[in-house]
Amino acid sequence: MSSRETIVNGAVRVRFAPSPTGALHLGGARTALFNWLFAKHFDGTFVLRIEDTDQERSTQEAVETILKGLSWLGIYWEEGPRDGGPFEPYFQTQRLHIYKKYAEQLIKEGKAYYCYCTTDELKKEREKAAKNKAAPKYNKKCRFLNAEDAKELHVSRRNKVLRFKMPEEGKTIFNDLCRGEVKFENELLDDFIIMKSDGFPTYNFAAVVDDHLMEISHVIRGDDHLSNTPRQIQIYQAFGWNPPHFGHIPMILGKDKARLSKRHGAQSVTEYAKEGFLPEAMVNFLARLGWGHKDQEIFSRKELIELFTLDKVTNSPAVFDSDKLTWLNSHYIKESLPERIFDLALPYLEKAYPKLKLDDKDAAGIAYLKKVITVLQERLRLITDIVPASEYFFKDITSYDEKAAAKHFKGEETTKILEDLKRSLSELKTFDKPSIEDVFKGLAEKLKVKLGGVIHPARLALTGRAVTPGMYDVIEVLGKEKVIERLEKAIKFMG
Ligand code: GLU
Repeated sequence: MSSRETIVNGAVRVRFAPSPTGALHLGGARTALFNWLFAKHFDGTFVLRIEDTDQERSTQEAVETILKGLSWLGIYWEEGPRDGGPFEPYFQTQRLHIYKKYAEQLIKEGKAYYCYCTTDELKKEREKAAKNKAAPKYNKKCRFLNAEDAKELHVSRRNKVLRFKMPEEGKTIFNDLCRGEVKFENELLDDFIIMKSDGFPTYNFAAVVDDHLMEISHVIRGDDHLSNTPRQIQIYQAFGWNPPHFGHIPMILGKDKARLSKRHGAQSVTEYAKEGFLPEAMVNFLARLGWGHKDQEIFSRKELIELFTLDKVTNSPAVFDSDKLTWLNSHYIKESLPERIFDLALPYLEKAYPKLKLDDKDAAGIAYLKKVITVLQERLRLITDIVPASEYFFKDITSYDEKAAAKHFKGEETTKILEDLKRSLSELKTFDKPSIEDVFKGLAEKLKVKLGGVIHPARLALTGRAVTPGMYDVIEVLGKEKVIERLEKAIKFMG
């Protein structure tokens, strides 16, 4: 019977098992998140296992960035690197003795065999298959060697690998928690290698041994692994072990329906952090890549944990939409406490405006910066937007937006408005938003112009720009001295 309902009997234990051959990209981060949400939903355990058996491509640096990426997303592992756990070690290269032991068991039971074929021989086979337009498949030569030949080759050939004896007929059928029933003809599955000549296991073998020993109940991973699953199930069966439940989540495509490339989404999550994205925006965004709940877009972490189940994972590929990520980011920036945005924005501001360098004692400087950030927070899409958005708070005005100047700097008429404004503002005892607002309104009334007739030239004079946050807020933050100085400068500019 096929059902997509999540089956939970016993403790839920899931794992994220990255190969440290590069940073944590969106696809991997989403797999980690789905596993983590699933674990939290069922009060289970999230295990992190580093699959570093590809000696040439695995690096310590990649391990570090993966751990950093997960931590940034707030995806914490109960068992794994650093803190260990009851099934340690959690690095596959530290478990080689374990794989060896289980491989020997399969040999002893006649379920695996040594293959002595040389790379050259295998290459020729593959070429032959390609010529006949057949799928490349090992010809099982060594499976059927007679005892004498096998003995001789065992001594004479140094580079032997271990292959799994795949059943030659029948089907491997399993119930995928995201896709329903999936069937594979065993005949099409190869006698695949389980141990390489250097004594390292292959992914399919090591993953099964570890998932079994680590008591993993549900394997949730990208559907690029779907074709590995029947192979893995056959290994479970060879050992007489119960396989876990499997759920394969759909791949992520770009808007152009092509696989993710560097241009969209193939960058690492830590790069997104550097570009000014907030982790909760990223988590919300990733959660919606192939999963959904009604037409809701914004989910808190708590809601995600409450609502996340695999039957709501879609069957069709998820589409990466960077505009949506930016939209979510501006939402979460708006929702954040100003103190947090201050902490996040400060390094970018200090880099952009070296004169700004604040130390803890510079109370006035810190207060000014806090006010600047509070005024701009609503408008930031990315934390890094703070730099261009705040320029006029830190630098003198050296030019005026041309289009706006043509429209709002109307010679004598404007000079008079700005002169009046300067006078009234300089007379203010308390330089705060309500008093500033009163000045503008009073002036518009007195001069019999619309409020905009005062605000637009003032904005241009004070910021050089046509668009800014609310004028009264900006003026309050800039402070009397800068405001007067800039009004004078604009008056002079108009001659
Ligand atoms: N190391 C594999 C990968 O990074 C893990 C696949 C799995 O989850 O089984 O793709």
